[in-house]
Amino acid sequence: MGRTMPCHDVAIVGLGPTGATLANLLGAAGLSVLVLEKEGGVFPLPRAIHFDGEVLRILQGVGLREQALAIARPGEQGMHFVNGAGETMLIRGGSAALGPHGCANNYYFHQPELEAVLRAGLERFLNVQVKLRHEVTGLSHDAHDASDANNAPGVTLNVRDTTTGQGSTMRARYVVGCDGARSPVRQHMGSAMLDLGLRQPWLVFDVVLRQPVDLPAYTVQHCDPARPMTYCNVVGDRRRWEIMVLPGDDREALVQPASLWRLVAPWVRPEQARLERAAIYTFHSVIAQGWRQGRLLLAGDACHQTPPFLGQGMCAGIRDAANLAWKLEAVLLRQAPDSLLDTYESERAPHVRALIELAVRLGNIIQTTDPALAAERDAKFRAGRPEIFELPPQVLGAGAFDAQPGSPAGRPFPQPRLHDGRLLDELLGRRSAVIGRPAALAAAAPATVERWRLADAMVIDQPDAPLRDWLDAQEAQAVILRPDRYIVGVARTGHDLDRISQHLPVAP
Ligand SMILES: Cc1cc2nc3c(=O)[nH]c(=O)nc-3n(C[C@H](O)[C@H](O)[C@H](O)COP(=O)(O)OP(=O)(O)OC[C@H]3O[C@@H](n4cnc5c(N)ncnc54)[C@H](O)[C@@H]3O)c2cc1C
Repeated sequence: MGRTMPCHDVAIVGLGPTGATLANLLGAAGLSVLVLEKEGGVFPLPRAIHFDGEVLRILQGVGLREQALAIARPGEQGMHFVNGAGETMLIRGGSAALGPHGCANNYYFHQPELEAVLRAGLERFLNVQVKLRHEVTGLSHDAHDASDANNAPGVTLNVRDTTTGQGSTMRARYVVGCDGARSPVRQHMGSAMLDLGLRQPWLVFDVVLRQPVDLPAYTVQHCDPARPMTYCNVVGDRRRWEIMVLPGDDREALVQPASLWRLVAPWVRPEQARLERAAIYTFHSVIAQGWRQGRLLLAGDACHQTPPFLGQGMCAGIRDAANLAWKLEAVLLRQAPDSLLDTYESERAPHVRALIELAVRLGNIIQTTDPALAAERDAKFRAGRPEIFELPPQVLGAGAFDAQPGSPAGRPFPQPRLHDGRLLDELLGRRSAVIGRPAALAAAAPATVERWRLADAMVIDQPDAPLRDWLDAQEAQAVILRPDRYIVGVARTGHDLDRISQHLPVAP
């Protein structure tokens, strides 16, 4: 095996939204990145239509906020739950106002357009090499991490050029499988998938309107036990219906244009809209047990899949990328201990699992086909007692932060607008940050200050009013933030500040 072949810092297998976000983050960090994607272009069929404010904040972090906003609309209109008789039982309001992330809480978009934005973003980085039509066919992890002068320890990838059929080998220090639900990287790792209980076929039917049609601007959950269905105003002229496939359905017949148009006949006719695609997807609810094995890691659908009832599958993959990117950067550029990468799964998996479980519960409610159970559910909706909806708190599982009872550590720090009009992250860039009152920071121990320097943390000792307000509300002297904008810890005393600073990863 070519012991002198170039070794990339990170090889990313798969250029879906997860891989493309990770490649942008690592590219911006200056790492040498190899991206291998077996297909020639963006997956053409629309899948995700919703992302949340944290996702836009992550895209902002790689300089793609405006580009993403140009192809998305804020979720101003909300969601209506309508029963089989057409009666509106519950309205969940929407809003375009900026939320805690400095972004609206929800956006609607067309996944291929966002993927195109992410791919265009990669063109900025000479240090990111994208190889389309290159399929990873095998992996071999170095047996030992002992490196020699010519060769860093890493992974060898067997790659097939799908145009010529030619095979080659490539090397990287770490490999991240962003290779989707069937993930060959996961299969190589042997990580088992835990099934969280929902496996249901749905027909997804996308149209582009040819002319104005009187359709709601909001999302409608048609909780009709005879045929549960969701209608979405996507973005621009795009509209989507997701239609539950019932036990007696002939799947082949269902996707024929005549039966598709019949299903949506109450809302739209063929002369009013162009059918973009119709496909039956089986919604899954699974999470991998083991997102890391040595130098191999998994992200996105490769390690978790959720039914799309909360519109969170891609969002979860993009959050994975943000969590993993700064850790790879700390390990590869600042020699932080490789064990930092173990905190990736421990931090992310509990939140992903809670989201999938909620999506399964919501799915079970929407998918009710028993008329008696549906009537019971409808009564609860009318009484304002729907036992669903609140997303699990955005809090990390145990990991690289100072977990203390009652502390906001492990939660995202808000992104306020500063006095000069910038959003906080525009000031901080992609670095860790120590934000505190001048006296508290000046009193920090020299070893603590040195740790901030080694971790390349930005020190802000004259915080803007919204940051001071935050410290006041927490009765805190200082707060430390990670590059992914999660809170490392809050210091109420000088001793606290020395302690929480220990969580900033630096070379041992
Ligand atoms: C109907 C539907 C609606 C959805 N709605 C939403 C929503 O509203 N919001 C939301 O957040 N999510 C939603 N999702 C989920 C979202 O689409 C996925 O979670 C997301 O696409 C996963 O991205 P990924 O990059 O992890 O994987 P993928 O997009 O699957 O990308 C994986 C890539 O890896 C490549 N690859 C695979 N094997 C190899 C190999 N051996 N070598 C090289 N390349 C390889 C593939 O070609 C592919 O390009 C929805 C999904 C569906 C089906």
